[in-house]
Amino acid sequence: MKAAAHRLVLLGPPASGKGTQGRLMEEHWHVPVVSVGDVLRREIASGSPVGKEAASFMNFGRLVPDRVAVAAVEAWLAGGAGESFVFDGFPRTVGQARALDEVLARHGAPLTAALWLELDESAIAGRVDRRVTCADCGRSFQVGSQVAARDGVCPVCGGKLTVRKDDDPVTLAERLEQYREHTTPVKDFYASRGLLRVIEGGRTPEEVFAQIEAATANPQEATA
Ligand code: AMP
Repeated sequence: MKAAAHRLVLLGPPASGKGTQGRLMEEHWHVPVVSVGDVLRREIASGSPVGKEAASFMNFGRLVPDRVAVAAVEAWLAGGAGESFVFDGFPRTVGQARALDEVLARHGAPLTAALWLELDESAIAGRVDRRVTCADCGRSFQVGSQVAARDGVCPVCGGKLTVRKDDDPVTLAERLEQYREHTTPVKDFYASRGLLRVIEGGRTPEEVFAQIEAATANPQEATA
């Protein structure tokens, strides 16, 4: 039997596990997962004009302008998306959500669900404080449980572990403010369309993924 198509957005506050769940979806479902944050970090590393513009927002914990985020997603879709795909960390504003609706309607491929990872702010602060990220493959790890030290090497690819520039307490406070102001309204946007699936993000990666599988198994069944 043919597997059901997954066309998802994966949303939630900083450090709610979006990147980790995106990787599990790639591994288990073999679907492409596009993280707009990763795309922008690559632009910054390459020193491109888009990267320079993005850095002037990202380094201060602010969202990049909608046109920059939407252009990144449109470029990816134009590269030949299949019938399944996941956007991690997009859309983060209602303007982006409306733009995505229009782009996907043009592709004849509407979303099948919007996954919302919930995590309370004290857990977020703890995770960000212990988070290191591989400069090569972009995977994140928790110091103390997944890797021993901040300055070690990536257990997956051997790359250098670094602390993300925007993972300091002051920048995190701004990212949370941007999330509350701009991204939480996106939840109502998808709830009103019957697409919202709320997921408890405070559990282990495997437990969170099990919730995601249950929430996406039957596209007709909403949990919120
Ligand atoms: P993330 O890697 O998802 O935590 O995103 C890191 C940063 O990239 C955010 O704090 C924003 O500055 C920027 N960013 C990522 N996705 C978007 C988006 N959809 N809209 C605007 N800015 C974004």
